[in-house]
Amino acid sequence: MNDLVAGKTGDWEVVIGLEVHAQVTSNAKLFSGASASFGAAPNENVSLVDAAMPGMLPVINRECVYQAIRTGLGLKAQINLKSVFDRKNYFYADLPQGYQISQFKDPIVGEGSLRIVMSDGSARDIGIERLHLEQDAGKSMHDQHPSKSYIDLNRTGVALMEIVSRPDIRSSAEAAAYVRKLRSILRYLGTCDGNMEEGSLRADVNVSVRRPGSPLGTRTETKNLNSLRFIQMAIDHEVARQIEIIEDGGEIDQETRLFDTSTGTTRTMRSKEDAHDYRYFPDPDLLPMVVTQDEVDTLAAGLPELPDAIRDRLIGDYGLSPYDASVITEERETALYYEAASAGRDRKLVANWMTVELFGALNKAGKSLANCPVSPDMLGGLVELISDSTISGRIAKDVFAIMFETGKTAPAIVVEKGLKQVSDSDAIEGLIDKVLAANLDKVEEFRGGKDKLFGFFVGQVMKQSGGQANPSMVNQILRSKLDG
Ligand code: ADP
Ligand code: MG
Repeated sequence: MNDLVAGKTGDWEVVIGLEVHAQVTSNAKLFSGASASFGAAPNENVSLVDAAMPGMLPVINRECVYQAIRTGLGLKAQINLKSVFDRKNYFYADLPQGYQISQFKDPIVGEGSLRIVMSDGSARDIGIERLHLEQDAGKSMHDQHPSKSYIDLNRTGVALMEIVSRPDIRSSAEAAAYVRKLRSILRYLGTCDGNMEEGSLRADVNVSVRRPGSPLGTRTETKNLNSLRFIQMAIDHEVARQIEIIEDGGEIDQETRLFDTSTGTTRTMRSKEDAHDYRYFPDPDLLPMVVTQDEVDTLAAGLPELPDAIRDRLIGDYGLSPYDASVITEERETALYYEAASAGRDRKLVANWMTVELFGALNKAGKSLANCPVSPDMLGGLVELISDSTISGRIAKDVFAIMFETGKTAPAIVVEKGLKQVSDSDAIEGLIDKVLAANLDKVEEFRGGKDKLFGFFVGQVMKQSGGQANPSMVNQILRSKLDG
């Protein structure tokens, strides 16, 4: 399970902890009524509080607090009924307050866990250390004008959840699986849209290496990675860099690094010594935040079924493979589509048609389930025709293609194109007799022991029927005639 990395002087174990910043889905910012939506004209969504005008006071947005609690519940975490907002003092050009309101010693959410499933089906629980609420900063742009910098404060004060993992992750592939799973849970919960391109979800990766069984090594932190690929690249680069330094007799500096997307390498941003001196103290403008157990219970009761539970159900109750179950449950829309399409039908067959044909066609057409021309009931209807032997699996592929193209239902297409499977034994027998009569030499060879000619006969009969003969009946009747 621990993918060790081979160095010149022996094996190394990789240790990774992730700090993920997830933008809270809410109408307004964490401490002001300004809109938190993405894509507005620069500085359109800035209140006097966000601009830190003298005398302005922050007022907590309860919906953001509830979103953080929902997320904590989704991560099976401790919810702290009392939490505290602190000032993290640091110069952010795009946060006019001169400090960030965050949570330090008393976060809203404590320890939890998140299950990752790797492509080989192995599963592992990664510890969550904490989740706290904090303000996002705005955006400085230095490339718009030769001598000026521009600032857009739209994002200033938008609520973020910082979700900190334990150093339990052991490879870049596990790190990607962790972020993918976290994103999936956030999207199920509706607490963050998970859009990494727009910056709604970004990760800082803490990486160290050690000899297997040794204490933790010194770590570096690479900041602000906004894609799964960059997360993996940054980790792989950092692991190789650290191993080389240590094997050459050097030491790792505990520092913050930046990932250069154009070269796939990391470089020093600042040493952690300076970065640590944030002079946190409780924000005197905000009282300690108190929520009641009743509120937490109400939020818990309103949570949707989450991917792990659905996955277990698909495997346990419907008999799906772990792989199909993972693919189907990663996104809530997919899971809902599957439930609707497969209800009262052959669950495994629907899963198969969904993951192979439907996803293949969507991929090819550059579409998603949101604008899919085939409704759940249409896919289910197609599978029904296979289950009751109206059409064969082969013909069903053609029907599916027409269905995807035209939006017509499978039964309508089958009638229109005359594709109904031939299950009339007299008709099939007639076809078989014709094929055998036309291939007397091959019949001789078969009876003389050339068994593999059976497939040839099946193929000929299917061809004669235009693909419409019931394949299992063809097999059965052919067998009895040849053996007879
Ligand atoms: P800081 O306050 O300096 O950010 P934390 O203790 O909050 O430090 O840790 C930040 C992240 O670093 C966490 O995700 C944690 O799991 C991870 N981490 C801590 N020690 C190590 C280590 N030796 N190697 C890799 N990751 C680590
Ligand atoms: Mg930290």
